[in-house]
Amino acid sequence: MQAGTQKIVVLGTGGTIAGLAQGAAPGRYRAAQKPVDELLAGVVVPPGVTVQVEQVAQIDSKDMDLAVWQALLKACRVHLAQADVQGLVITHGTDTLEETAWLLQALLAPRQSVVLTCAMRPADAPDADGPRNLADALAVAADPKAQGVLAVCAGRILGAQSVQKLHSSRLDAFGSGEAGDMGRVRQGQVQWLRACVVPAPLASVEAVLAASALPRVEIVLSHAAASGAHLDALVDPDTAARHGVAPVRGLVLAGTGGGTLHHEIEAAARRAQAAGVRIVRTTRCADGWLQPRAGDEFPALPLSPVKARLALMLDLLGR
Ligand code: ASP
Repeated sequence: MQAGTQKIVVLGTGGTIAGLAQGAAPGRYRAAQKPVDELLAGVVVPPGVTVQVEQVAQIDSKDMDLAVWQALLKACRVHLAQADVQGLVITHGTDTLEETAWLLQALLAPRQSVVLTCAMRPADAPDADGPRNLADALAVAADPKAQGVLAVCAGRILGAQSVQKLHSSRLDAFGSGEAGDMGRVRQGQVQWLRACVVPAPLASVEAVLAASALPRVEIVLSHAAASGAHLDALVDPDTAARHGVAPVRGLVLAGTGGGTLHHEIEAAARRAQAAGVRIVRTTRCADGWLQPRAGDEFPALPLSPVKARLALMLDLLGR
């Protein structure tokens, strides 16, 4: 593609990157206030690139839901189908960025770049980190080696499969654990540490767009001095009916260490499985994924609990 003909579309969804402290209680801020076109004011755009913006949503990503994901999936699909679009940048809250990144990767598996970025400080902070992150995300999206869904924060490029928010307040809040960073951005220059690999899509985007709800999957954490009572209550169809919610179709057991379960949780999970609830296992450890092994009573997924939940939801949606 000729220089000057590449387009990057920036999709705004809210988050702290669009947050404002002005008007909020002292020491606080409100996420998702500033429109995405205003976030780009003064941000350096890579040479030869034009930027188009679209406000897809304006939410605090702690409240991410199916409707916003559907709107985002539709917008991504429309823009990625344009021949002159080199890549997309999505401004997003940090809280659930890793879930959106994984979902987009699993459903779109884009050959172009889709780069999520964010901030830990609101847009009107004197030392706001959003403009730098946005400039870095544009540089990555414009890089010919960028492919698939990536996250860019604090000069680090992270893959959708492994990115996780690991710190509640640091500017450098994300990591990829032993999977390692994909690369970094220094003074606007992209340096790759490994090649982008885009796996095949895991599920049909059409099925997600057509769904009025995703199959209900809950996460149960195993810990010391546990009981199986909450797990029994979770999967009880009468309890679900009383609360006017769908019955649980799947459970992610976030086990200790190598995916081990307290014996009370294990017994309750066995009862749920016998009642037809799909069960998968992962680890509550922030790093080191479980390796699936043939013959496991509760199959292991090499994903964090929140991503394993999405994987199970997508799998159940197809059944
Ligand atoms: N609660 C905010 C959000 O996820 C946090 C952030 O963006 O840093 O939208």
